[in-house]
Amino acid sequence: MGATATVRVMSPEEIAARSGGETPYLLWPERGTHFAEREMRLRQLAANHPMREFLLFAADLASAQQAQLAAYPAVALPDHEALDRAASRLAPPLAAIDFPRDPAWRSELRALLARLPDSLPPAARDTIGRVARAEDSWLETQADCLLAGVTRGLDLAAAPLVAAGLQVYFTHLLLSVQASAIGRGQPFGRIEDETVCPACASKPVASVTRNAGDLLGQRYLGCSLCGLQWHMVRIKCAHCLSTQAITYQSLQRAADEPDTGAAASAVAQAEVCDSCGHYLKIFHSDRDPHVDAAADDLATVTLDLLVSESGARRHGVNLMLLFGEPDSQTDDSADDAAEGHPRAGTEISAAVRPPNPPDPGPR
Ligand SMILES: [Zn+2]
Ligand SMILES: [Zn+2]
Repeated sequence: MGATATVRVMSPEEIAARSGGETPYLLWPERGTHFAEREMRLRQLAANHPMREFLLFAADLASAQQAQLAAYPAVALPDHEALDRAASRLAPPLAAIDFPRDPAWRSELRALLARLPDSLPPAARDTIGRVARAEDSWLETQADCLLAGVTRGLDLAAAPLVAAGLQVYFTHLLLSVQASAIGRGQPFGRIEDETVCPACASKPVASVTRNAGDLLGQRYLGCSLCGLQWHMVRIKCAHCLSTQAITYQSLQRAADEPDTGAAASAVAQAEVCDSCGHYLKIFHSDRDPHVDAAADDLATVTLDLLVSESGARRHGVNLMLLFGEPDSQTDDSADDAAEGHPRAGTEISAAVRPPNPPDPGPR
């Protein structure tokens, strides 16, 4: 497989060539601004939004994430042999489900939680305290469930908090591996499965159109975990890669409805594939330059409700807002939960309902 396999991995020369105006395949999260931009966007979207409290809570989390990312300690990195092996197999080098996490992620999570404001509602403070005091083994189990997309055994109230810690850890890991490879060749590039993140193999949260290089309106899928963005042509299903039978749905705001902020309805679309029945949201940065895949996804849950009425399933995953019930899974529904499929209005509202940040719920 050697020759054909390696030819599809981007070499440093190709990366360099791509700075000359071609569309770059990868867009990197910026250590200094990645979560800060998300925080800003969440606060902007929260104005007059029905989920205002939840969006502001997510903004507080993003603020704490940014502070942690800016000063994250060194963590264990995969060695060069492992990176080369992954590249030659067109495999994601940091596949999140299997990756041996550095224990530092737990202490960094606890430090992140300590940054959250005391002014949060009591229910949220309780959940924060519970996660901060949790045993290492419980945190590891929660992390395993989150990264595998399994809601059985997952504490849904605590999930956004644990997920926030994992996101910072994997973003830091991604940027550290990238920095450690300087002069050695690009450790990240195309992998066999272009429906998942080329670095950590997580699903995208949504896609964003951007102007990249000389080309206008390029579409990038944003990783739900590490924040890496990878290019995918438009009008192509992000789940089954079909280019047939793609349609778009968006929310039309009725004239008598309040503006839910930042003209979200005009900026957001669901790209629906009639071949496989999945959809991924697409946000247009030419219509609003501040779009952030994760933030805008949270603020457009009504679009999920609209699209799910036609039976379409979510391909995107938002770790801040998981769809599905924790304790009611059959093998069949496990698939749905992993795909974040909003199957019925009742289930969605159960998971969405933390407009009061993380719903403590009886457990
Ligand atoms: Zn990723
Ligand atoms: Zn499809």
